[in-house]
Amino acid sequence: MEGPSVTPTPNETAKPHFRSDVTVELVKHTASDSDVLWAARVSTAGEQSLEELNKDPERSKGLINYLMRDRHGSPFEHNSMTFFISAPIFVFREFMRHRVGWSYNEESGRYRELEPVFYLPGGERKLVQQGRPGKYEFVAGTPKQHQTVTEAMEAAYRRSYEAYQDMLAAGVAREVARAVLPVGLYSSMYATCNARSLMHFLGLRTQHELAKVPSFPQREIEMVGEQMEAHWAKLMPLTYAAFNNNGRVAP
Ligand SMILES: Cc1cc2nc3c(=O)[nH]c(=O)nc-3n(C[C@H](O)[C@H](O)[C@H](O)COP(=O)(O)OP(=O)(O)OC[C@H]3O[C@@H](n4cnc5c(N)ncnc54)[C@H](O)[C@@H]3O)c2cc1C
Repeated sequence: MEGPSVTPTPNETAKPHFRSDVTVELVKHTASDSDVLWAARVSTAGEQSLEELNKDPERSKGLINYLMRDRHGSPFEHNSMTFFISAPIFVFREFMRHRVGWSYNEESGRYRELEPVFYLPGGERKLVQQGRPGKYEFVAGTPKQHQTVTEAMEAAYRRSYEAYQDMLAAGVAREVARAVLPVGLYSSMYATCNARSLMHFLGLRTQHELAKVPSFPQREIEMVGEQMEAHWAKLMPLTYAAFNNNGRVAP
């Protein structure tokens, strides 16, 4: 959001902090399987009460599965989930390519001083890519490779944050000084979607044995996807089951 310019006051005590995780909090939702049934049944039955909608669970399950299988997508749009996500900037850069059915608001590097929180791959993160583009796999790194990654990233992060702080201390605006900060810096955002747009995201950004169309997402955005998926599965269990039973392709 645009706002009045404020003289930067550098946070001289800020020390770099390193993380290997991402966090996803479900902050707000109005999302249930009934929302899908409601929207679908207006075609044939007009307006219905919640009681009428839910009186035959087997029929509800069958209808949702039919909609998913035959890709009748619009009934899956009448719901909303808002997530608060904390992840490195390179994850958000991939995330915001998802344009349809998503709304985003991210913290500003112009109007606040960015905190020195940086991403380091955890011990379980596969480090080595083998094979050619389009046909490759990731395999575990050696302890030596993990050490190289940790040392190189920590040194680069510390140096870039020092440069950022030096510029702020010299009176340079945050929006200029932030140019030295790397994409491994953590950011945070609210992302709001509906079940249809989330399914499209999950089909592309997660790997799953039930997926009819395999995808090869970067692990870190997949970590975000897995947490969103876990929240959504609890809110809309019939829709979630139908998504999995029909090859994890968004309707
Ligand atoms: C494994 C992987 C690797 C990737 N690598 C790269 C890469 O190297 N470089 C790169 O730039 N991107 C890359 N991407 C991003 C990718 O190209 C898509 O931008 C991203 O996955 C969002 O998908 P989407 O456009 O289908 O989603 P959304 O933007 O949410 O769109 C949803 C659907 O709406 C329709 N739609 C949206 N906009 C239009 C439009 N303008 N015209 C017609 N139909 C539209 C399409 O049917 C689309 O599938 C990669 C994505 C993945 C998953």
